[in-house]
Amino acid sequence: MHEAAKVAATMILHCIFSVVVGVASALILPTLGPRPELGYLGALDSDDLFSELGKQLSPGATIIRRDNPVVEVDDEDDVQKTVCFANNHSLPFLAIDGSHGFISTLGRMQGGIAISFMKLKQIKINPSGDYADLGPGLTNGELIRGLWAEGKQTGIMLGGGHGYLQGLFGLLADQILEAHVVLADGSSVIASQKSHPNLLWALKGAGHNFGIVTRLKYRIYDRLSNNFLREDGQPPQLINWYNFMRRPDIDSNSAVIQMRMIYAGDLSGLEQYAAPFLALGPASVENVTVPYPELFRINRSDESSQVVCGKGMYRHLFPTYLKRHNTTALREVHRIFTDMTTNSPVWGYTNPAYSNDIIAASKAMRQAMVDGSGSEQLHAYVNYAFGDESPPEMYGYAPWRMQKLRELKKKYDPKGRFNFYAPIGKPSD
Ligand SMILES: Cc1cc2nc3c(=O)[nH]c(=O)nc-3n(C[C@H](O)[C@H](O)[C@H](O)COP(=O)(O)OP(=O)(O)OC[C@H]3O[C@@H](n4cnc5c(N)ncnc54)[C@H](O)[C@@H]3O)c2cc1C
Repeated sequence: MHEAAKVAATMILHCIFSVVVGVASALILPTLGPRPELGYLGALDSDDLFSELGKQLSPGATIIRRDNPVVEVDDEDDVQKTVCFANNHSLPFLAIDGSHGFISTLGRMQGGIAISFMKLKQIKINPSGDYADLGPGLTNGELIRGLWAEGKQTGIMLGGGHGYLQGLFGLLADQILEAHVVLADGSSVIASQKSHPNLLWALKGAGHNFGIVTRLKYRIYDRLSNNFLREDGQPPQLINWYNFMRRPDIDSNSAVIQMRMIYAGDLSGLEQYAAPFLALGPASVENVTVPYPELFRINRSDESSQVVCGKGMYRHLFPTYLKRHNTTALREVHRIFTDMTTNSPVWGYTNPAYSNDIIAASKAMRQAMVDGSGSEQLHAYVNYAFGDESPPEMYGYAPWRMQKLRELKKKYDPKGRFNFYAPIGKPSD
């Protein structure tokens, strides 16, 4: 089935081709999970404390004091002042951008200061048109819409970054040319090929462990406008996406599969690749053609989607990379998913009573996929990790890489101040 879905085509528009069928197949298993909260400052006299910090910050900065202190910074100097202030008072701190991070290790952040970048959303395109200076507070949607209006496109990310354009341009982190970084001691450096190149390397895959990025120089691309259909193999423009879902109107006993073929291109070029799926007799078929920024809304992954982006819900992901699919394993995953969803919701739930069952079933599904792939090792994408994966499972098993990451950690964050998001671990791990 996977082989048959090789597709092609491209242009300015992206197309989604959806087929709902009653057979099993999946790439990633999205399930659900708790969102960490920042804790209280406890016994500290926090009003006095924050008036002391407030005097040091720029006029544009704001300190929001509700239950938890949030410093909305206005420039890099504000970040440095806040980090030094937190260090002087032995308080933990955490940079916050889109608040989409859901890994369970974020829950270890208690009684600290949130450093918010909501005021830093600049998009400044260089006259060459090859890169832009970006503020760290931009959401994906803001960046995509802002660039699209200027005839450009890209996505934004530390820690890897999978996106619809990855087949064409690489991972999102591959686009970072330079990062301004505030380190754990409050000092500031520029990481680029010329200055602190190893820090730049580490930021791309393990960015949350090393510092706070206050500005990015980021590669951007002209909007795609030409058809560049390829006939050989799976083209870079294609993403195949499978969802298991409950649709009692189609099948009251078992989960169905929604298969999405998302490609930059022309619907006519897709027909031959869709043919094997259509031959299965899908329950429904839908063709949608939209410009790139609209793709997120169509896929219900933009700000307007309550289920995916809404606050106050439990969501977990259990990612695994696979070298190959195994249909027996996929059937097993479908069986577990069907059993699990007989009584529980599956994505974005509010009742924590569901957690244990859902987490256990999701882990079983992931393990079935790993076992079926013939690999004995789990390879988990760090930005989707649940939080109990080991550092090699998230960052790779090659000893040289873990050693290099840990040496850099010792150099740039020797006290482990950036250990809340998928920590790379101690030298002994
Ligand atoms: C609905 C949804 C869809 C997603 N889709 C995708 C997808 O398509 N592709 C993909 O690759 N990932 C995807 N993710 C995963 C997402 O990339 C990660 O959760 C990412 O960490 C979110 O970043 P954020 O800035 O929104 O999160 P936050 O919760 O604000 O931050 C997450 C972590 O990054 C750190 N951080 C924040 N700002 C900075 C900074 N300026 N400098 C250094 N560290 C910082 C924080 O301290 C924290 O540790 C998705 C997540 C969700 C919830």
